Amino acid sequence: MSSSLEIRNLRVAVAGKEIVQGITLTIRAGEKHALMGPNGSGKSTLSNALMGHPAYTILSGEILLNGEDIAKMPADERSRKGLFLAFQYPVAIPGVSVANFLRSAVKARVPKNVKDGDSEAMRGFRKTLKAAMDELSIDPAFATRYLNDGFSGGEKKRIEILQMAILKPSIAILDETDSGLDIDALRVVSDGINRVCGPETGVLLITHYQRLLNYVKPDFVHVLIHGRIVRSGGPELALELEAGGYESFGLAPDRAAGG
Ligand code: ADP
Ligand code: MG
Repeated sequence: MSSSLEIRNLRVAVAGKEIVQGITLTIRAGEKHALMGPNGSGKSTLSNALMGHPAYTILSGEILLNGEDIAKMPADERSRKGLFLAFQYPVAIPGVSVANFLRSAVKARVPKNVKDGDSEAMRGFRKTLKAAMDELSIDPAFATRYLNDGFSGGEKKRIEILQMAILKPSIAILDETDSGLDIDALRVVSDGINRVCGPETGVLLITHYQRLLNYVKPDFVHVLIHGRIVRSGGPELALELEAGGYESFGLAPDRAAGG
């Protein structure tokens, strides 16, 4: 069966306030969906709720991964089932190297009763890591550096893509993976997304700006305003947004411009 993520009528509250106000969206393997919206429209709230962040309360609706309701599962279980979230603000973990972090992530997916030596994923880990780093043009020295500790914005985002390359999710949510990147870093990161997300992977690209979509071509574009998808369409919708701004989608000009 090919993979899918079905979001049905999802409403999410955070800090006692309803932010996501009824989102319905289906992402299938091989599809790239862009979710665009101004700051504060609820993009990260949606991605955190999809991944199972405990601070985000699902008020109603369903999240189905490959037909199975995952809305009550803890984040690690969702991850084992093939869901992946690249964070808007990746955290630093001083003391834990990139290689050890990724090894733990792979190990977490090996059934508890299987020894490392009997797991192909664990035995081949070094090789897989090296190959993925090569493919994403990440300096091998990063393997031994502490995770995100002193990394530039572009380096952090590249490590998120590396993590995705190693975990090979069936559905990947990328929350503003373009934010804070200069044009060269944007190209490198986009290239990484295109390499890693093949026909087996469905992608939800969350972005504030159209520019990422010049490099990672979406099949569908959705516009999120105040926690609701107000328009869905093809790639031309992103260009329309670029030309007219969020105002043309019913957002008050003061909100469209800033914060
Ligand atoms: P976006 O990612 O589209 O910029 P967010 O989902 O981050 O928007 O934020 C939407 C609203 O939810 C904002 O008003 C924000 O302050 C609020 N919010 C999001 N996460 C939290 C949180 N952990 N605690 C309190 N408020 C939050
Ligand atoms: Mg956000």
